[in-house]
Amino acid sequence: MKYKEHMADSDPNPFSHVPDRLSGLVDLSYNLWWSWHPEARVLFKRLNPHAWALSVHNPVKMIRDIPPSLLDRALADPGYMRRYDIIMHRFRRYMANQNGWFSSHYPNLRKHTIAYFSAEYGLHHSLPFYAGGLGFLAGDHLKEASDLGVPLVAVGFMYSEGYLHQHIRPDGWQDGIHEILNRDTAPTRRVLDSDGAPIIVRVPAIDPPLYVTVWKVEVGKIPLYLLDTDIAENDPAHRGISSQLYTPNREERLKQEIVLGIGGRKALNEMGISYTALHLNEGHPAFALLEQLRELVEAGASFADAIGDVRQTALFTTHTPVAAGTDVFERSLMDKYMSKYCAALGIDPEEFYALGLHPNDRHSCFNMTVFAMRMTGYCNGVSRRHGEVARGIWGCLWPERSIADVPIGAVTNGVHLPTWLNPRLEDLFNSHIGDVYPRWQEEHDVSEIWELIDEVPDEDLWQTHVWLKMKLINRIRERKRQNWADQRDKPENLVAEGMMLNPSVLTIGIARRFSTYKRADLIFHDPERLKRIVTNPWYPVQVIFAGKAHPADDEGKRVLQRIYQFAQQPAYSGRIAFVEDYGEQMAQYMVHGVDVWLNTPTPPLEACGTSGMKAALNGVLNMSILDGWWPEGYKGVNGWAFGATDPTVGRDAADAAEIYRILEDEVIPLYYTTDMDGIPHGWVAMMKRSIKSIAPHFSARRMMKDYVREYYSKSLNWANSALQMSIR
Ligand SMILES: *Cc1c(COP(=O)(O)O)cnc(C)c1O
Repeated sequence: MKYKEHMADSDPNPFSHVPDRLSGLVDLSYNLWWSWHPEARVLFKRLNPHAWALSVHNPVKMIRDIPPSLLDRALADPGYMRRYDIIMHRFRRYMANQNGWFSSHYPNLRKHTIAYFSAEYGLHHSLPFYAGGLGFLAGDHLKEASDLGVPLVAVGFMYSEGYLHQHIRPDGWQDGIHEILNRDTAPTRRVLDSDGAPIIVRVPAIDPPLYVTVWKVEVGKIPLYLLDTDIAENDPAHRGISSQLYTPNREERLKQEIVLGIGGRKALNEMGISYTALHLNEGHPAFALLEQLRELVEAGASFADAIGDVRQTALFTTHTPVAAGTDVFERSLMDKYMSKYCAALGIDPEEFYALGLHPNDRHSCFNMTVFAMRMTGYCNGVSRRHGEVARGIWGCLWPERSIADVPIGAVTNGVHLPTWLNPRLEDLFNSHIGDVYPRWQEEHDVSEIWELIDEVPDEDLWQTHVWLKMKLINRIRERKRQNWADQRDKPENLVAEGMMLNPSVLTIGIARRFSTYKRADLIFHDPERLKRIVTNPWYPVQVIFAGKAHPADDEGKRVLQRIYQFAQQPAYSGRIAFVEDYGEQMAQYMVHGVDVWLNTPTPPLEACGTSGMKAALNGVLNMSILDGWWPEGYKGVNGWAFGATDPTVGRDAADAAEIYRILEDEVIPLYYTTDMDGIPHGWVAMMKRSIKSIAPHFSARRMMKDYVREYYSKSLNWANSALQMSIR
């Protein structure tokens, strides 16, 4: 592995060509606020659309590279400068506003800080620090915290090789190409100490010594601190700890989690940030609890008292019922790194390891989820259904309780509306909803407001939807055209990857990580029947697939290959497409532009699922198995559901048969029944019912308010009263 030194240090001011009058563009480019405010995005794009495209919509890179002459042109353009001034005004007013929802509802808690730790964040494609749903959930959590003024600080990793580009070979096998992140053109900056040198923090009580440096990403008002081990202070063997997400190597993984939890808390301390409540997004960062314990013990508390305190202010969110989603470390590995830490905790290693021991595990591994559940006072799953499933799985940790009384609650995930609602649709809603209720965007979690969707004329909603579908298909074809020109693709790749897509055909989207439990290939269960459906000359259907398999998951890669090889067959007449390299950008196109979002995981393994919510906001209809969020979202008239009963044998066959039936009897006829005006009014009516019933409730806004009410405020109130006790 090669490590290049960071250019940032050699180039003191890469923005010296930006005139003072436009210096706000630099501030704006480093704050992801721009990414969920379309009018701010326009400010960059209007400088020069080609420069914007060349930067892959990354304003930091664009402003660094832009020729001064283009900035001068903007300066001389009164129209541009008017926009610039008003958007900078909005941005600064947003950043300075101290009276958000949180402050007005919890004025006595506003001085506190809540720390949010997560191994991944999906914020924007210029920050490739995500693998999938967990990351986007975390990213949306931060954006919403910023919008509601929740006092959060976030900790994560600077994955310098985080982005795995997916390339599909002609035989359908997934190759992965790691792209090295250029830290200088990403929207993130080093955290410096008072002398202007990068801060370097030693992870305490760990042998051999591990060091981290810290980067900061501004997510509106929320700072996200990223830990980076790629520095000269580290032994070369440790420099790569933070280079890749979820390394399959157990020892590397343990080191990552030590750095994230223990190093993360230490880094916050060094920056003078102390927090009252802690939210662990999954088990990976659970060692943050340990570091809090160690500090209390160091200050003189007994280990048992320290645990009592730490539990009162800690929340653990479990995100998956899949066993592979839980990190488990062997005893020998734990000994290798943690023995000194046990001494610092003042307990013997047996006592420590017992905290992470699963009651049914005879191999005595250290289980991060078990540890997190034992050490936090609050715990939740991510949909009502998942809450029930989690109580069943983890009830063994509370043997004295009945399953119903297992203390695992549920907060159903939601998506950040300004991030996932397409700007064209936003404009459309503005002109019809905003007309009647101008504050609709600030109050978008209020259901009554969304009833106003009925005031949008069918024709306008349909035309906007068709336009978004064309944009998706153009985007897919344009990428393939470039590959063709670069001689990267053979004709059968072009067909398999969507060159034949047709915007007038009913379009089903299936995009997700290719884990086997997601059953992305379920609709190929009866290949002949699917072939008849997609090649029907009068009512054709096309299916767009996208998603990556984890680089170590050969099983997932085989599922992908199977789909790809079907897509190559002339018998499917170009109606099946597999789109390479699914990421944030392609996700945006897909959730805006397909007609139906199909979701087929094996129950009960989908904890929640969020991409269907993104689709629903944009008028895309969900067709999903009744698992995860869909039992809450499905109202009988706002999409389609299957898999309600649990066949003991032949689950795949039964679910596939239901899918074919629903497609043939309901989806296809509804889509192709149009009036004389060419508009499928029945379909549009269902789009409206879907938007109304799903957008307000499955928003990150509703989710964040639930977290504050159910968990954060309880921890912070406890801290307030503990403080009063100690003053008395
Ligand atoms: C939303 C999103 C996901 C998560 O989707 P699920 O439905 O929760 O599996 C994964 N990848 C990308 C790029 C996303 O935008």
